[in-house]
Amino acid sequence: MLIRKFYNKNNREIKRISNIVYIINDLENYFASLDNNTLRVKTIEFRKRIIKGDLLDMLLPEAFCTIREASKRIIGMRHFDVQLIGGIVLHKGIISEMKTGEGKTIVGTLPTYLNALTGLGVHVITINEFLAKRDSTNMRPLFEFLGLSIKNIYAEQRLKEKIAAYKADITYGHNNEYGFDYLRNHMVYDIKEKFQRKLNFALIDEIDSILIDETRTPLIISGHTYECTTIYYIIKNIAKKLIRNKNTKYKHEKCDFILDEKHKQVELTEQGHKFIECILKAKKIIKKNDSLYSVKNIDLIKKIKAALLALYLFKINVDYIIINNEVIIVDENTGRIMQGKRWSYGLHQAIEAKEGVNIKNESNTLAYITLQNYFRLYTTVTGMTGTAFTSVNEFNKIYNLDVIVIPTNKPIIRKDMNDLMFYSKKEKIEAIIKDIKNKFYKGRPVLLGTTSIKNSEYISELLKQQKISHNILNAKNHYNEANIIAQAGHFSTITIATNMAGRGTDIKLGGKQKHNTTLSKNLVIISGGLHVIGAERNDSRRIDNQLRGRSGRQGDPGSTRFFICLEDKLMRLFGLKKIKKMSQILGLSYDEAISHKLVKKVIEQAQKKVEIHDYNIRNQILKYEKISNYHRKIIYSKRDTILFNYNISEYIKFIRNEVIFKIVYDYKKTYNINKLLKNIKTILNINLYDWIKIKTNQYMLSSKRGYIFLFKKIKDKYKTNYVYNCKKFGKQRIKEFEKNTLLQVFDIRWKEHLQNMDYIMKSIQLRGYIFKDPFEEYKREAYRLFKALIINLKVDVVSVLSQYKF
Ligand code: ADP
Repeated sequence: MLIRKFYNKNNREIKRISNIVYIINDLENYFASLDNNTLRVKTIEFRKRIIKGDLLDMLLPEAFCTIREASKRIIGMRHFDVQLIGGIVLHKGIISEMKTGEGKTIVGTLPTYLNALTGLGVHVITINEFLAKRDSTNMRPLFEFLGLSIKNIYAEQRLKEKIAAYKADITYGHNNEYGFDYLRNHMVYDIKEKFQRKLNFALIDEIDSILIDETRTPLIISGHTYECTTIYYIIKNIAKKLIRNKNTKYKHEKCDFILDEKHKQVELTEQGHKFIECILKAKKIIKKNDSLYSVKNIDLIKKIKAALLALYLFKINVDYIIINNEVIIVDENTGRIMQGKRWSYGLHQAIEAKEGVNIKNESNTLAYITLQNYFRLYTTVTGMTGTAFTSVNEFNKIYNLDVIVIPTNKPIIRKDMNDLMFYSKKEKIEAIIKDIKNKFYKGRPVLLGTTSIKNSEYISELLKQQKISHNILNAKNHYNEANIIAQAGHFSTITIATNMAGRGTDIKLGGKQKHNTTLSKNLVIISGGLHVIGAERNDSRRIDNQLRGRSGRQGDPGSTRFFICLEDKLMRLFGLKKIKKMSQILGLSYDEAISHKLVKKVIEQAQKKVEIHDYNIRNQILKYEKISNYHRKIIYSKRDTILFNYNISEYIKFIRNEVIFKIVYDYKKTYNINKLLKNIKTILNINLYDWIKIKTNQYMLSSKRGYIFLFKKIKDKYKTNYVYNCKKFGKQRIKEFEKNTLLQVFDIRWKEHLQNMDYIMKSIQLRGYIFKDPFEEYKREAYRLFKALIINLKVDVVSVLSQYKF
């Protein structure tokens, strides 16, 4: 019902947008008649019209016509009508779902050109640096012909180039680099080093991968702490001794910890707690009279839990791989290795201890942001992907983004066959090999998608034993990856890939060749086109669809089939009971697989369960993140105000008065003269010990309006010092000093705040709440911390400025 509603609305929108496409097509002849020079100056003409007040929407038909015409002449491609529809949708800030091979790169040129006309900057975002380079290189002649500047950002780029890249009309780059740049941009001490402009228009390629798959691991800029790493080995050995529960339901059974495989969580039992405490005391890691429950031991519990997860849940060659003695994360959805990213909460160190490789110190966060929050900073965010529809709710709720499914240029004739279900893994793999061989002998290219590197290597080994040549791809090198995928459509070519490896490159039938392209393409078409095999269903339907979508591009023939069995993770965790019952009815046995519409239905139900569960986790993270994001926004904007302000003396004066007021106010609450004098000395570097000895002053102070008297006295004294300093060292030097101090204090206190926030997050996760809502607790604590941060900032600034000896 809901799906029908979506499609009805979708069709209405497509119809409406098609009217604009008719206008663009009507203009085509006129634009085709223009010579190159006249076409080129269209950009200048549009820019003038924008200055006069024309809106981009008004310019759209002519601008789209200009770029289509330029594209015909410069890169030899004329945007199809459906591609114009995609471009209009993107310009409106709506996600365009377009199937693989529909030409999303060229669709992207339409809104990019139109929005770059304003000169406010368009950022094109890709899932890796290789694709950013490839796409910008391909599209550069087109944009440059039209007089727009186009540049790339990349890791370890020199500052000068980075500044130029962000000044360009169009900037291409990898999502992480944009996020890191945003953070770096708020750590500079000189405005000349600020390179990112106000974030204007983001066009995200493979938007689901960036906004959904990548959001759980934040971007972190860190410095290192120097903690001793032997503790991780000690903890690992303790963890090994602990007894695991047999059944998650019976919490009272005798065990030391309860492992919840489904939610990747671990909980210590009372028995476990006592046992661990005992060993830690014997090893003198905690004191005899101390308890593992005490606040300062939160970190130890965190390490024990991490060690248990490392031992029991995280598997080599599935969740991570080891290269050069380093543990590198493998993304569970994409099979892509995530160089440089580390699991938090000590999990990475625990895995390093388990594998006996070098343990890297836990790092000290200087700045961090999630991609979710980074992309929310743009005035407009939009993007394209082959698979957005199944996540439309998430895009709606979290990003306020709509999705429109764009019709394909040619009808899809690919055959998606029913899943084949087997009893066990053994029979399933045998059948997969048989299917591969069958298609291979017919000359069809085959793409096999697996959910882990381990599985892909296992099947590759079996094929090798049978002397069947094949390519194996597990996302270790983007360049090779793209090359292998580009050739995966060759006659009788077998490619084994972890899912989505090589994403962003489409598989052309006949492969990518210089000669005989049509002949080899026709050969493959006659044989039946690309056959895609899924060796297991993924956790989400979206990822399955991505794999399927590799076949049948631009009206090509092709087929897809998923092979599944009762031992698959998805079944074990989310639908086994139902599936077992159904397979009994349908007559599944060791010798006979079943293929029935019902199987698909039950599996998709299980997937929906996982999708909802994963969505809830992301949503939960976002809910908590919202708070620290709010803090970051305030601090960053204050920091920018300081950085851009040449005269911050007024601001300092304001802070100083506030601090003095606070000191006086504190005194008013207690009338503790000694404390008052001490505060004045330590914070303001003002000595009032002699002044207070004078009887009349004491009398004034104890009067009803005494605090006003005190306030004035301190201010006057401070002012005298300030004026004296200015005369002695020059106003300019003092101003510079004030600015640098402010920035430094901001950075130090902000870093500390991030640690404090992390700490409350951890302690809230560890505490079991019965009557209280943990989120409310977090909010309350975070508010308290933020208030303290603001006060501490001010006190620090005033005290550093008044103590400093020039
Ligand atoms: P997607 O990202 O949607 O999978 P790509 O942008 O990689 O698709 O494009 C797929 C292929 O189709 C590319 O080789 C591209 O050159 C080609 N292509 C796309 N649009 C057109 C067009 N309008 N005319 C000719 N070729 C096109």
